Amino acid sequence: MSTVKEQKMEKLETKREMYHLIINGERVESVSGETFTTYNPATGEPVAEVAKGTKEDAERAIQAARQAFDYGKWRHFPVNKRARILNKIASIMRSRFNELVELEILDTGKALTAAQGQVMQAIEDFEFYASAIVGHRGTVNNMPGAFHNFTEKEPVGVCAQIIPWNYPLMMAAWKIAPAIAAGCSVVVKPASLTPLTCIVLAEICHEAGVPEGVVNVVTGSGSEVGNYLVEHPFVDKVAFTGSTPVGKNIMEKASKTLKRVTLELGGKSPNIIFEDADIDAAVNGSLFGIFYNTGQSCEARSRLYVHESVYDQFMEKFVEKTKKLKLGNPFEQDTHVGAIISREQLEVVDGYVKSAIEEGATIVTGGKEAKVEGFENGFWYEPTIIADVNHQMKVVKEEIFGPVVVVMKFNDEKEVIKLANDSKYGLGSAIWTKDHARAIRVAKQIQAGIVMINSPFSAFPGTPFGGYKQSGFGRELCIETLDLYTETKSILSYYGSRPLNPFGV
Ligand code: NDP
Repeated sequence: MSTVKEQKMEKLETKREMYHLIINGERVESVSGETFTTYNPATGEPVAEVAKGTKEDAERAIQAARQAFDYGKWRHFPVNKRARILNKIASIMRSRFNELVELEILDTGKALTAAQGQVMQAIEDFEFYASAIVGHRGTVNNMPGAFHNFTEKEPVGVCAQIIPWNYPLMMAAWKIAPAIAAGCSVVVKPASLTPLTCIVLAEICHEAGVPEGVVNVVTGSGSEVGNYLVEHPFVDKVAFTGSTPVGKNIMEKASKTLKRVTLELGGKSPNIIFEDADIDAAVNGSLFGIFYNTGQSCEARSRLYVHESVYDQFMEKFVEKTKKLKLGNPFEQDTHVGAIISREQLEVVDGYVKSAIEEGATIVTGGKEAKVEGFENGFWYEPTIIADVNHQMKVVKEEIFGPVVVVMKFNDEKEVIKLANDSKYGLGSAIWTKDHARAIRVAKQIQAGIVMINSPFSAFPGTPFGGYKQSGFGRELCIETLDLYTETKSILSYYGSRPLNPFGV
């Protein structure tokens, strides 16, 4: 067994044949010795073998994280030292940028430009929290008489962090960076479909100087490893990104030990094009809003509402540009849309499209599995626009998580706000208008954690990301996230010279 420190993690080969668990600063095999294969969704070919963690491995990782938190030095490091190490993590990631991009593409089948943007954001996330933690502090409060009160922010403890497959590295960074900045220890469980970059990130954390036991990674199934982490009494907090049903299950199980929980779940985000919008900008933003990352984004703008007076004009351009999107080699700069993560997910997407047809909707373009030359064994789906839909249809109500958008007409501001809010979800939303007053008025009435005004982009490090309603709770990517990885301790002291005797006895 070789340790991360011994190997010094000198320049990584882009892809290894075998990826290990990271427990207590070491690359280790699973207790069972079993492995599983991760596949490239663009080609259907195997990428690497990965140690298959079980409950026993999760137990080892939790013990290591607990030990590191209770008796280790990380949480006691001066905050500037922790910040320096976070910056070092970012700088090693920068020096390995291309390797991380390549690995992410191999594991997810996503397009190069998407992978590049996401790896860059993962890097910037560590830089953001390196700065943010320095300013994250308690308060001094006004007290009567000779009392003094101040609060301190203390790390919450051992955090289980469960990661989805759609943004494997970026989601790992969104979770690991604020947690370790705050002084917590983590056990990360990446999605079984996409474990590779998360494992490499943990190795980079050690190379940068994070002590052993602070960042652990256990791959393995959600139902076994994930569940074990959620139920374990030594885990103080669970941060989860993934589907709403699993999020609900986690919340219920975490309640048994009253763990702190943050959930970033599904979405069905509305995208509203008003009659005074810059139509070209709205078309481009709407294309990106749904087809970026092959539609596999929790904040994908998958419900499009277009004012009836500009509907035809908008649709003509939107459909034309959708047809121009290039599906192809994910490693090529001009590929717009990558592969779907798995055959199962492709079938889920296709099932939704078929349900729309059965319910009477019209497929404007796309609507079936795509054949991509040179990638015949991969999982590809045509960018799909569906019209003639209503709010009773499955395809309008449920998250599809693929390159599929439904389009509806509206004719009045009040009506469209009502339609936009007619969803169990409340994650993203977008508004396209040149009328600033309207933009703000509508933004304030939308029930969603994120409102984009004339912007294709939903977030940068510093902007809160999270949902209303069944899209979950807690905000990531922002300063407030640090509050979710810390407890506030109130320290009250009496400094008067006269001894107090409240009972008077
Ligand atoms: P899941 O919610 O099942 O998986 C997300 C993560 O949770 C994975 O790491 C998974 O592990 C883990 N997990 C699964 N079950 C449990 C459990 N009982 N306890 C603890 N952890 C668990 O998402 P899927 O991958 O199955 O995707 C299904 C749908 O979820 C998608 O179609 C999409 O609608 C939605 N989704 C939403 C995401 C978002 O960003 N909001 C991200 C991903 C999916 P493992 O991989 O081993 O199963």
